[in-house]
Amino acid sequence: MKRVERGNPEIPENPYLLLTPGPLSTAPGVRGAMLRDWCTWDEDYKALVQDVRRRLLDIAGVSPATHTAVLMQGSGTFAVEAAIGTAVPPGGRLYVLANGSYGLRMVEIARRAGIDVAFQCESEMEPPDLELFRRELERDPAITHVAVVHSETTTGMLNPIEEIVSMAKEYGKVCIVDAMSSFGGVPLDLRCLGADYLVSSANKCIQGVPGFGFVIAGVDELRQCEGRSRSLSLDLYDQWRVMEADRGKWRFTSPTHVVHAFSRALRDLEEEGGVAARHARYVANQRTLAVGMRALGFEPLLPEEWQGPIITTFRYPPGSAFEFVRFYTLLKERGFVIYPGKITRIETFRVGTIGDIGPEDVARFLAAVEESRSRLAV
Ligand SMILES: *Cc1c(COP(=O)(O)O)cnc(C)c1O
Repeated sequence: MKRVERGNPEIPENPYLLLTPGPLSTAPGVRGAMLRDWCTWDEDYKALVQDVRRRLLDIAGVSPATHTAVLMQGSGTFAVEAAIGTAVPPGGRLYVLANGSYGLRMVEIARRAGIDVAFQCESEMEPPDLELFRRELERDPAITHVAVVHSETTTGMLNPIEEIVSMAKEYGKVCIVDAMSSFGGVPLDLRCLGADYLVSSANKCIQGVPGFGFVIAGVDELRQCEGRSRSLSLDLYDQWRVMEADRGKWRFTSPTHVVHAFSRALRDLEEEGGVAARHARYVANQRTLAVGMRALGFEPLLPEEWQGPIITTFRYPPGSAFEFVRFYTLLKERGFVIYPGKITRIETFRVGTIGDIGPEDVARFLAAVEESRSRLAV
């Protein structure tokens, strides 16, 4: 077996750029941060965890006096499941405003946990229906919790969470926001927003590698959640208590390498100029993509007013011999990996514009699209 030599770490080149919204293309320094082994209960590691938790609160614009960041092993869905399964008490009722598969996933999470759940999913191509939401709030006082996705990765739509949370708060509901694919890449001030739980993960806009998610929660709210969780490993309250009491200790084996990579990614974000600068880069990426693709005959699915900078859905070119798998393969040969569509009914594919990429990479991608399209004769 070949061993990596000390002081001579091998960081292999990536064979292609991931134009997928997580996992995404990470910076070499982030991948390089994983080339050491770490002890989980050692003070050095726990101090790093505490630093990561503090930095997450800074990004959310909240203070440790009122909020806490709890890290949770697993992919992003595990953190959403931890938040819902820990927040909603027995006898509570969750209302989900869904307009895509990640919204519907929250409905499924609640059902599996035996949580009473109601939802709307009027259209994947439009924001949630706020009139309908208000009618439901008026009609059904049994609703205790409200959940919504910020950046619905199914289409790339940015949902109006400010209006949704503010309406839910008018009626005194506890709010859970899945900000998985927007946190760190779209400016968001949790103090102004007023949501109680904000969920995201390591491998999206912070540009870390996959392995854990996190929940930023109001301390007063989380404090009430003892014993509510339907799951042992996904008990957000217990995870929080142990992280607090033992200053950065996770209850069960923590993804040490991933946390180190994440810490490096947080430093990179700061060096880039914070969320505002990152957002500007993602917006430039997305604009370059949308304008270039349109010129090549690929229409974005969403109107510009609802389109976010994270991922863009394109319709297949009309009436053509377009074959996604061949298109995908041709692009991959040219160094780019894209995503299939996820919405029902219309044939689409998706291209992500987050990760360690800039408009110049998107321009190279557009050249690859032009070449691949001519090979497909569409
Ligand atoms: C990525 C993502 C998730 C979590 O997906 P995982 O595959 O579990 O990481 C949840 N919600 C949204 C909106 C996402 O983009």
